[in-house]
Amino acid sequence: MEKNCIFCKIINQEVPVTLIAENQNVFVIKDINPKASLHYLIIPKKHIKDISQFEDQDKVIAADLLLMAQQLSQTVAHANQFKLIANNGAAVGQSVFHLHFHFLAGIKSDSFAV
Ligand code: 5GP
Ligand code: ZN
Repeated sequence: MEKNCIFCKIINQEVPVTLIAENQNVFVIKDINPKASLHYLIIPKKHIKDISQFEDQDKVIAADLLLMAQQLSQTVAHANQFKLIANNGAAVGQSVFHLHFHFLAGIKSDSFAV
């Protein structure tokens, strides 16, 4: 839990949000500013800044993030083909410094730049 982190506040229920999916280590919400007709964020419950900050003990979390992408692709309509993007660092576009994967799917003409 990081005091001023929006994703920590969401998982701590300080900010109301509709959860799309959840397991022990990971939760999924809709992006507030969608860049595709289907734009979810797959977020670890543990505050980890980005992929470069993974520790050995985070192996299960790392796996659960990818397995959640698989689960969404199998359960959400029109999401069987998708893009998974994690911005790691401000220079490449990260704006929330709590690791998250953008899960993007939907119609072919969508722009997938995030
Ligand atoms: P980044 O730029 O760090 O790769 O992605 C952060 C994403 O989080 C952005 O796409 C932004 O729209 C989304 N976001 C920021 N604040 C909130 C929020 O309070 N709620 C939700 N659902 N998404 C947010
Ligand atoms: Zn956080």
